[in-house]
Amino acid sequence: MINFYPGPSRVDENIPAYVQAAYDKGILSINHRSDAFMKMCAKTVGLLKDRLNIPESYTIFFTSSATECWEIIAQSIIDTNSYHFYSGAFGEKWFDYTKKINPYAIGYQFDQEQELKTGELDLSSETGLICITQNETSNGTQISNARIGKLRKKYPNHLIGVDATSSMAGAALNFSNADIWYASVQKCFGLPAGLGIMVCSPNAIAKAQELKKGNHYNSLTFMIDKMRDYQTSYTPNVMGIYLLMRVMESRKEILKVEKKLKKRFKAYAELVDDASEDYTWLIENEDVRSNTVLVIKGDPDKVQELKEKAAQEGIILGNGYGANKVDSFRIANFPAIKKDEVKTLKKFLRKNL
Ligand SMILES: *Cc1c(COP(=O)(O)O)cnc(C)c1O
Repeated sequence: MINFYPGPSRVDENIPAYVQAAYDKGILSINHRSDAFMKMCAKTVGLLKDRLNIPESYTIFFTSSATECWEIIAQSIIDTNSYHFYSGAFGEKWFDYTKKINPYAIGYQFDQEQELKTGELDLSSETGLICITQNETSNGTQISNARIGKLRKKYPNHLIGVDATSSMAGAALNFSNADIWYASVQKCFGLPAGLGIMVCSPNAIAKAQELKKGNHYNSLTFMIDKMRDYQTSYTPNVMGIYLLMRVMESRKEILKVEKKLKKRFKAYAELVDDASEDYTWLIENEDVRSNTVLVIKGDPDKVQELKEKAAQEGIILGNGYGANKVDSFRIANFPAIKKDEVKTLKKFLRKNL
């Protein structure tokens, strides 16, 4: 089966060989305080910075998932105020989760057809964390680098946190526009689930140091101390880090990856634009459509039929998410998906949309 689910999604084709190599080299049972681990961790951090164009001054942490990053941010970086701008289910979940930990979290929902409006934000306090979801996996929208840049300019004293779970390693993100970025590896990294990546600016680190919150095993202050030696505060997903290192070693730099995905997106988009009247984009506004997660809308019965037919032909289409669970389907446009697999899907869509 070819998996086009937007997470967990198709893993890099070399994963079986890398797992075997990890076993053969004894990586699967190395001690996380050993030199071998620290070297591997340092190398992985270096590769991430190089391939994804992350500023040298930023610190990279390993977590267990994007969800854990919600918790770490709420417990370690948010002093009192956080402002959550969202148009879809993941941004809303981040807000809801944060509110349970910090009662002063404020949510602003915006129309999924609209770009994030930086001019109209009403931020009642002088500081705090602005939270946005760069790529909203539920509705297939994205916030451009330019918009995040504007946000940065308008609010130089706030920290900006970005959920980039379904775009990091697939889109060329301008990391210097924000302070905290995070993702899970089962999306654009093409790895099995169970590892999260959190990228923090010097200002985010300074904030955590200033707040000195240390009540949790994954308090950022502990993570910062440990990461100075390329270690983690608990026994991490060593195999996941090894696989990440191997996958990043053979990945091209992000601009090239993005170019490939944009080209594929365009080809899919033409098929959706030419589709019968039964199917249309969930999002009409081209300017906010995601390049890495496509959401296509249709009558629930037709969508169900289409998914079944695809399955018979060895293609897994992603279900819709949340409010659009039954009246849409999703296609992951992630780097690990192979050229001939894209071709197979395009052929199917050309015939059936
Ligand atoms: C998948 C996803 C998450 C959750 O990732 P986990 O690895 O399950 O924690 C969060 N935000 C977005 C935008 C996602 O796509």
